[in-house]
Amino acid sequence: PISLYLVPTPIGNLKDITLRAIEILKSVDVILAEDTRTSGILLKHLELSKPLQSYHIFNEHKAAEKLVERMKRGEIFALVSDAGTPAISDPGFLLVREVIASGLEVQCLPGPTAFVPALVNSGLPNDRFVFEGFLPHKKGRKTRIESLLEESRTIIFYESTHRLMKTLEQLTEAFGPTRQACVSRELTKMHEENIRGTLAELIEYYQLHSQKGEIVLVVAGKSDKREITDRGD
Ligand code: SAM
Repeated sequence: PISLYLVPTPIGNLKDITLRAIEILKSVDVILAEDTRTSGILLKHLELSKPLQSYHIFNEHKAAEKLVERMKRGEIFALVSDAGTPAISDPGFLLVREVIASGLEVQCLPGPTAFVPALVNSGLPNDRFVFEGFLPHKKGRKTRIESLLEESRTIIFYESTHRLMKTLEQLTEAFGPTRQACVSRELTKMHEENIRGTLAELIEYYQLHSQKGEIVLVVAGKSDKREITDRGD
């Protein structure tokens, strides 16, 4: 038996909820939500009324222990985040770990998550890739970027509106202006856009166009060809 389901929810387009996600949300005893107001709106749209309990990153450690106790007594939970797959750059990891450690079963449903469409839309190699999530906001940002200098796999970052330019500039400094990249903005929403080009071209583009909304930045890895010329052979 499963004690905890992780249920992905739409990242913009409400039609992206899966039939199984709805079925599981209907069947559980309690829905744990990163933000009960946001998830309340989704449940209302699905015409589904269920006890909602808040579960966010600030009380994750303590909450996880208490929830596992309730699972041991037989309660079945679903965890949802504001958007996309729970535990991916969202609360959930600690709870999953705690549930597994106590011998109970978890199951994550497949469903919406922002990085997969962004990676595929980018047109960059996707046979191997690394997911970097959010770069540190202040401290450790440069070190993190520098740790990726030799990375040959395609690199995926989650980004916020007001840091896009800073990130593009810092990546240009580190990787050079000709590195290929793609900005996926507002995926699945009315104004979805996927802008592809070199880092320098993307900076130029976003100096003239809106950077509002939610953003995934996909950056090509260091290319082998370049390495060969760098060595001079
Ligand atoms: N759990 C989510 C997932 O599975 O993708 C990610 C949650 S994280 C707090 C939010 C970030 O995901 C945003 O800052 C953005 O980088 C990315 N994101 C979420 N929805 C998006 C969308 N519709 N278009 C582009 N990026 C999106």
